[in-house]
Amino acid sequence: MVETPMMRQYQDAKAACPDALLLFRMGDFYELFFDDARTAARLLGLALTSRDKSENAVPMAGFPHHQLESYLAKLVSLGLRVAICEQTEDPRQAKGLVKREVTRVVTPGTLTDEALLDPRENNYLAALVTSPREQAEGNIGLAWVELSTGRFQAATVPQSRWADQLACIAPAECLIEEDLPVPLAGIPQVGQVGNQNGQSTGHLPLAAGHASPVISNGQLQEKTLFTRRPVWAFSLPTAIELLTSHFGTATLEGFGFDAGTDVLAIRAAGAILDYLRETQKASLSHLDRLLRYHAGSTLEIDQSTRRSLEITHTLRDGRREGTLLAVLDRTVTSMGSRLMAEWVANPLAEIAPINQRLDAIAELVADARLTGDLREKLRGIYDVQRLLARIITGRASPRDLSHVSQTLAALPALKAKITGRRSELLSHLDIQIDLYPEIRERLETAMVENCPLQSREGGIIRPGYHAELDGLRELATGGKQWIARYQAEEAVRTGIANLKVGFNKVFGYYIEVTHSHGYKIPENYIRKQTVKNAERYITPELKEYEEKVLTADERAKHLEYDLFMELREFVAGQVRRLQATAAALAQLDVLVGLADLARSRNYCRPTLVDEPVLAIRDGRHPVLDGLLPDGSFVPNDTVASPDEGLILLITGPNMAGKSTYIRQVASMTLMAQIGSFVPAREATMGLADHIFARVGASDELSRGQSTFMVEMTETARILNTATPRSLVILDEIGRGTSTYDGVSLAWAVVEYLHDHSGCRTLFATHYHELTDLAKTLSSVRNLNVAVREWDEQVVFLHKILEGAADKSYGIHVARLAGVPAEVNHRAKQILAQLEQEHLDSEGRPKIGVRGKKTRAGDLQLTLFAAEVHPLVEKVRCLDLDSLTPMAALQKLHEWQSELLGELPGTPQTRPR
Ligand code: ADP
Repeated sequence: MVETPMMRQYQDAKAACPDALLLFRMGDFYELFFDDARTAARLLGLALTSRDKSENAVPMAGFPHHQLESYLAKLVSLGLRVAICEQTEDPRQAKGLVKREVTRVVTPGTLTDEALLDPRENNYLAALVTSPREQAEGNIGLAWVELSTGRFQAATVPQSRWADQLACIAPAECLIEEDLPVPLAGIPQVGQVGNQNGQSTGHLPLAAGHASPVISNGQLQEKTLFTRRPVWAFSLPTAIELLTSHFGTATLEGFGFDAGTDVLAIRAAGAILDYLRETQKASLSHLDRLLRYHAGSTLEIDQSTRRSLEITHTLRDGRREGTLLAVLDRTVTSMGSRLMAEWVANPLAEIAPINQRLDAIAELVADARLTGDLREKLRGIYDVQRLLARIITGRASPRDLSHVSQTLAALPALKAKITGRRSELLSHLDIQIDLYPEIRERLETAMVENCPLQSREGGIIRPGYHAELDGLRELATGGKQWIARYQAEEAVRTGIANLKVGFNKVFGYYIEVTHSHGYKIPENYIRKQTVKNAERYITPELKEYEEKVLTADERAKHLEYDLFMELREFVAGQVRRLQATAAALAQLDVLVGLADLARSRNYCRPTLVDEPVLAIRDGRHPVLDGLLPDGSFVPNDTVASPDEGLILLITGPNMAGKSTYIRQVASMTLMAQIGSFVPAREATMGLADHIFARVGASDELSRGQSTFMVEMTETARILNTATPRSLVILDEIGRGTSTYDGVSLAWAVVEYLHDHSGCRTLFATHYHELTDLAKTLSSVRNLNVAVREWDEQVVFLHKILEGAADKSYGIHVARLAGVPAEVNHRAKQILAQLEQEHLDSEGRPKIGVRGKKTRAGDLQLTLFAAEVHPLVEKVRCLDLDSLTPMAALQKLHEWQSELLGELPGTPQTRPR
């Protein structure tokens, strides 16, 4: 290969970002060379060529510059880093080789481009640092930033929680140490995973069968690109130096970070800033503070719960449609939509801020006109946060700037709507929304209404804004007036009445004089051409003018560009102020959206209390309620409290509605804690610190994990972490193993939750045996889902009732399904025997006997709810007040023996 100056320039650029694909601008094309060319040819389907045909030909591939966005999108979505090397001077003005520079490195976590981002989704860049090797089970430092909002956060979290925290953030890209001192389950080891470019980055692989926290969140696996960074980028001195010089502070204490105790969080934040500097090569002044993230201030929802509750992605296909977020998100701006997702990811765990949101929503709900007006006005708001990010990083187009201007124009009417409102939050937002008349005026006087995307092609600045520009434009459009005047003056001066100024491509401007006036030609006329009846001349004056006209267009465009840059700089200087307004607009949009939802779907304002209670009247599942035809969702009550029982055991056949019921309670808890109204007639809800959901394991098999292992890992976690303030929902625990195994495990789990965790628990199961738990555990209450047979059909009423479910239901279904009568008959006999056998001599379930004395009250409660049975009938008539519990049990025992004596296996003994 011949080492040309340009190739040397290329090699230098490539050396500056060796792990990125380098797009090298050459004229109207972006070119890739060597291995980059091969990779790009393979991934993008470009033709692989070479510059010369010699043996050492350099492989090369390229595409026209206007296709940059679409190719970038593809490369970034494949998890590659892409460096863009631009021509930084006008080739026409270059003396020698055109100057080129890498102007940015595009990575998934650092995007601000409109075309490469989903407007509704946050795009986080995260960094993760582990404790030093000697601390076996230490902490993790995490920092994350959304480049478009400039929101930059850091936290130190226990190692056991890093996966949940990361799943909650769901970053597009996560920086990790080149040589991760502590291997974390789920994060690829060096060399373990590489991407298509052979870089030391990788998507999270499946982590099979780990008992330690693993990221099994499909979303994270697909979304997060892990990028390894050198160890020094994570060092504490580098971090402190970078962060303090960026924020212009002496220490980080003002942000609540202590260099002694928050080492890990600071190191992670430093790594982020270092990476942004390297990739952005632009101002980052909108990152104006580092926020401390307090894990305890939010309602914790671990990643498997997040998945099970289908909060942001459905279990089946990972889509947003059909999720809780999709129901809640009625925002009309992308900023609002992203904030909504953030609220859903971080529900609050303190009553006061939740009530602030609820107050604001209540005020909006009460005024339908106001909500409607605000929604209408918010539609006129552009994505100011992302616009500002592009402005600050120097990538905003003229159109971006005019969108800022149009947003500012929409503000006064919007602000007027929330001025003077009662609720604290709306008043606060009113203060936050500033109108910036000076910015608006400047942009409006300077820029035309619909600016183009390109900044170098003109058409940006309004006439009348800049005298020189107006002059140039005049000239560029031919300077008709000047020509007319010149022609008239020359006619007078020369006495040639029919003298004409014309224009052609060969000579440019010329003066045409007919032959008959030839003798009047003045001296300064230079003859250029003879045509049929006339001669054509030029003059130095005309030529000078012509030069002006012909370059005027070019100069006007340059001037417009300069003026545009000036405006952009001006707005960039105001970014921090504008950001506060943008954040307030996003909040307003979320609140208005939630109010609209609450109104249209008839939600109620939940009352949040500090006690671990639930008192929901006519609760509905937020998603299903919206999907089913109006009014066809059957509402249900939920009552749980230390007095009325904290563990609700819901039995009923498959398809009865058990899962729906327990999920609806969890969803409503989450909704209440983001400050939303809830789908119910009335709701009093105790503040939860953690929601745990363990539901259906069907999707795990496809992830290559043992279903039962996953189920038990998650169950273990719940049992080990739930506190009396937690809400636990469990669906069919123990299903992944044999019946006896499963029922025993489920039984023991409920006992443990009852004795140790003391948390509100909703346990859905088809194991009828578990209903006996209510006989021995004071805080367990049986509920069942009403099912009726009607006209030879099974009808699921979806109504939750007190008491245990009808045990023989399965056999009835079998009959309906056409199973021969003898089989049914025999099944009933067997069932009766099995049931007798699992009661002990005192009438208590044989499984789960723990030697505790049962209170008569417990017996009474469950017996009244139980089904028709001779034994039950006898007990019902028993006067418990006149007997001691022991005597009552004695009686029961006697009756039971009598009944067993009568039991020759006839089905009649167990009528229905
Ligand atoms: P289970 O967990 O008992 O097997 P599901 O909760 O999965 O049952 O519910 C089965 C189906 O019944 C749901 O898909 C839904 O269509 C319907 N369903 C459940 N609860 C209700 C309800 N309260 N009102 C109306 N339909 C319901």
